[in-house]
Amino acid sequence: MSEKIEHVKCLIIGSGPAGYTAAIYASRADLKPVLYTGMVPGGQLTETTEVDNFPGYPKGITGPELMEDLKAQAERFGTLVRFGMATKVDLTSTPKKIWIDETIEMTADTIIISTGASAKWLGLENETRLRLNAGGVSACAVCDGFFYKGQDVVIVGAGDTAAEEATYLSKLCKKVYMIVRRSDMRASKAMQTRVKNTPNIEILWDSETHDIIGKDTVESVIIKNIKTNELRTLNVTGFFVAIGHKPNTDIFKGQLKMDELGYLDVVAGSSKTNLPGVFAVGDCADKTYRQAVTAAGSGCMGALDAERWLAEQDIH
Ligand code: NDP
Repeated sequence: MSEKIEHVKCLIIGSGPAGYTAAIYASRADLKPVLYTGMVPGGQLTETTEVDNFPGYPKGITGPELMEDLKAQAERFGTLVRFGMATKVDLTSTPKKIWIDETIEMTADTIIISTGASAKWLGLENETRLRLNAGGVSACAVCDGFFYKGQDVVIVGAGDTAAEEATYLSKLCKKVYMIVRRSDMRASKAMQTRVKNTPNIEILWDSETHDIIGKDTVESVIIKNIKTNELRTLNVTGFFVAIGHKPNTDIFKGQLKMDELGYLDVVAGSSKTNLPGVFAVGDCADKTYRQAVTAAGSGCMGALDAERWLAEQDIH
């Protein structure tokens, strides 16, 4: 006899601020949500240190503590939080089918996708070591720029994010070195002009990061000009990487509409995807803001949209 397949009214995939906020709202609305955390419970914020820009924490809070608080709040109203990864979905069937860790099959009336995005890194050994030690390596200038007030920093990348973050850092830092691997920038012309007209941003063209030096925190960065092979040491205390993000949406390919980068399409002003009863919230559907608080806000939208959809379908 085959085992009974578990059915839930609301399944939440992913455990960043978007997923947990969706869970808080969904459980308070009695949708009895089950949330699967993915491989990094708490998401990207668990890899940061201080979070100073999440409203409600006047003294700041660490990323892992914030995520523990959000999890506890979701559990307080009955959300079942489980460690596991959604590895396959069939979102067109009724109810929708989901496989966890390639083995457990379950079904759901509604699905809230909050799988987030992952920052891309250069892959240098010292970059990983200092990043994991909270030693001055970051992929979010808006989150961490404040800690480098009056100091000199490096930012790697030449897209709109790098240009925007370089401009942001230039307002806080004494000097910003922007490391561009080609002799041209991918960023929009307007953003490029802004960067080029900012006196304390120095662009190093045709350049790549050779190494990051520092025992516990960044002390300097060695830059290599790839045309001349010349090495230059920059005495900086912060190293920002802005070479793009990858939304964690591979398992939805072919079922949900997404842009060429993999960000899920939602109906403007809502969390609705192209499939009924499937909602997308947080960074997996947002390449513009990518903040914990905007992710949390969209998580709330996802739960309210799911609740309304269930009511329209007369599913109780
Ligand atoms: P992009 O993919 O657009 O740009 C990534 C940048 O990083 C490129 O300049 C790329 O160089 C560089 N890069 C990639 N890998 C490496 C590496 N290993 N070493 C050094 N440099 C590297 O990502 P963004 O995050 O900037 O933007 C993503 C999307 O979001 C874009 O569509 C962008 O327009 C949009 N966006 C819009 C904003 C706005 O409108 N305000 C703000 C921010 C983002 P290369 O060019 O040589 O490939």
